[in-house]
Amino acid sequence: MEATAAVAREPHSAFTLEPIVIENPRAGEVIVEIEAVGICHTDLAARDGALPTALPAVLGHEGCGVVREVGAGVTKVAPGDRVGITFNSCGQCPSCNAGAPSYCHQFMHLAYDGARDDGSGPITTTEGEKLTGMFFGQSSFATYALAFERNVVKVPTDVPAEILAPLGCGLQTGAGAVLKSLDCRPGSSLLVAGAGSVGLAAVMGGVVRELATIIAIEPHASRRELALELGATHVIDPAAGPVADQVRAIAPAGVDYAIDTSGVPAVVESLLASMTFHGKVGLIGVPANPEASVPLTIINTLAMGVTITGIIEGDSVPDEFIPELVELYKAGKFPVDKLVTTFPFDKINDAVDAQHRGEVLKPVLLQN
Ligand SMILES: [Zn+2]
Ligand SMILES: [Zn+2]
Repeated sequence: MEATAAVAREPHSAFTLEPIVIENPRAGEVIVEIEAVGICHTDLAARDGALPTALPAVLGHEGCGVVREVGAGVTKVAPGDRVGITFNSCGQCPSCNAGAPSYCHQFMHLAYDGARDDGSGPITTTEGEKLTGMFFGQSSFATYALAFERNVVKVPTDVPAEILAPLGCGLQTGAGAVLKSLDCRPGSSLLVAGAGSVGLAAVMGGVVRELATIIAIEPHASRRELALELGATHVIDPAAGPVADQVRAIAPAGVDYAIDTSGVPAVVESLLASMTFHGKVGLIGVPANPEASVPLTIINTLAMGVTITGIIEGDSVPDEFIPELVELYKAGKFPVDKLVTTFPFDKINDAVDAQHRGEVLKPVLLQN
């Protein structure tokens, strides 16, 4: 079928809107008519060459839309079903079998390589030029996307598409970090570094979990204000002095949980210095330098029983967690609308620029 996609052709360059051709769905595949798609930092990292995705490519991995065609053997959804599209997983490896699909042994391949096991890909230009597709099993910066039965989740028709789309990656990551990965104890304390959309989703998750203390570290005043509005009990401006000192002025023994969304080594070090006994630190933010590391004081770490864990997609099992988040939104407990700014799909470059300037937290593109 023919569709229109925003194609990434060159690193650090604008997306170009182009007509594309998408293959018919094979076994286990589905075609989704996209209603909305969020823009996530990972899309831009892929465009700019920081990830192993070959250009030209159709990116986009927070899609929401309506199933139009299904391949052989698909039973979870049928044409006409509205779905959110999330990360893909193989369904067969030890992690998938253990109910931890975000740690799928094929995650990198399925997210970034854009090729089926036989090496084929489903997208070309109308001139026959091959484009990398299947980005996170979707490539949803387009009017239609080829996804998989495994990475679509049925969603209700009475919630706006711009609310549903970002649940597929950024927001389930932040909320899942609190509710699933760290499984924070009600009444405990949480420190969140960075009040972008992922960090603010963690703050909202902390409110859902009824944490007693939620501290957000954020350099921008407007984002600190929003963190307070969304339920943070305290905010810290890193320019106001050493973060660990500021944290201990609020929680003298240190915090029970900390989440980094920055990927900045100095920030992670400040979290490690802010922990109490048996604390848990979750790492979400992807560092600009793949070699980035932090020193670990062995004796402090073992004596205090501190756990440091990496977090992908908030340990979400999307078929369960995305409906949970939708219910929380409907109950007014997960106000995604406070984070989202919509743009028409053909204004994708304006949306990227606005996010780059820090004017919007979670840009979501709408098809008309
Ligand atoms: Zn797997
Ligand atoms: Zn993402």
